[in-house]
Amino acid sequence: MKLHFLGTGSSYPTTQRGVSATVLQHDDGSLWLFDCGEGTQIQAQRATISRQKITNIFVTHLHGDHVFGLPGLLCTISSQMALTAEEIKKRCPVVDIFGPLGIKRFINTALTTSHSPLNFHYRVNELVPEEVQYPENWEDMNAGVFTSHCHPSELSGSHIKATTDSNGNVHWQLKDDEHWNVTAGWIHHRVPTFGFVVKEKDRVGTLDKNKLLALGIKPGPVYGQLKEGKSIITEDGKTVTPHMVLGPPYPGRTVVILGDTSDASPLAHLVQSCDVVVHEATYDDTLKDKAVENGHSTPLQAVTFAKTIGAKTLLLNHFSQRYKAKCKANSKEEESISIIEEQALIASVGSSVHIQCADDMFVYDVPARSRDMLSN
Ligand SMILES: [Zn+2]
Ligand SMILES: [Zn+2]
Repeated sequence: MKLHFLGTGSSYPTTQRGVSATVLQHDDGSLWLFDCGEGTQIQAQRATISRQKITNIFVTHLHGDHVFGLPGLLCTISSQMALTAEEIKKRCPVVDIFGPLGIKRFINTALTTSHSPLNFHYRVNELVPEEVQYPENWEDMNAGVFTSHCHPSELSGSHIKATTDSNGNVHWQLKDDEHWNVTAGWIHHRVPTFGFVVKEKDRVGTLDKNKLLALGIKPGPVYGQLKEGKSIITEDGKTVTPHMVLGPPYPGRTVVILGDTSDASPLAHLVQSCDVVVHEATYDDTLKDKAVENGHSTPLQAVTFAKTIGAKTLLLNHFSQRYKAKCKANSKEEESISIIEEQALIASVGSSVHIQCADDMFVYDVPARSRDMLSN
């Protein structure tokens, strides 16, 4: 599992830094995109990310630096699929999009007013925010975010409402299948904003070929049955259980990807520990007041949150464009994200959390967890 940082800046893209877009690449090669700011498709080309392999898109909130790239990206995915009408019918490619209420209308309006047909289907699953997430001036912007109208390539999606647990904490359940459990939690920002918690489920271990051969089991469909957790009977009548021939399972990893926030604590109850958290640090600690006033964080806040949720690694992003990439600051007077990284490192003293600022094109390989943890 890898994280590709396509855009790590805030507000607007520059020649040095793109705006929010992060790709989670799974081990099978499929790609999930988190946010899609303006210019994301150019950044994807630079990172040689195959846009046709994007199967799910998660949108943290509807500020432009997180969504303005989405309609264009969908059109490019379509044009690059190069499928015939027959193939589309047969393969039925679908991209699932998750985002706050209003994302459906945004995509629909952009695609229909620009007369953009798509070569594949997409489905929008809108997260319905809780009352507490709306700012006082929400109605001033005439925020009519709802539409039931569907683009011709759009499959009917869903409205996902919050579930409240016995402690009064809320979450939104997005996926729960054989491989993944994905939930969302709300975080403080100027508009309704979410963070996503992606939990990989434990995977079965590998078959020990030597043990299998010693038991006289030759390759065939029985290998699949054992991997599915079923016992088999050998030709000479012995019962072989999966436990006898499978190595220890591969423990699932947890990745937390947050949107813009000045305080992510409402989501903390969803994470007991995690392999990596992606948290914004728009401004450095000397500009804390400005950060909080604009719904953003500083390195100290990000580190504090990472410690709260037991993160092994904290990756910082969404930097104000005032901070240049580390290698691109031309003089000592020019601010670079080294300032942010230094402040985060100081804040983390005494903890084991690993910290790194993500520049555009940075790739983080999420380490596999020790398999002994589950086998014991
Ligand atoms: Zn932003
Ligand atoms: Zn924002």
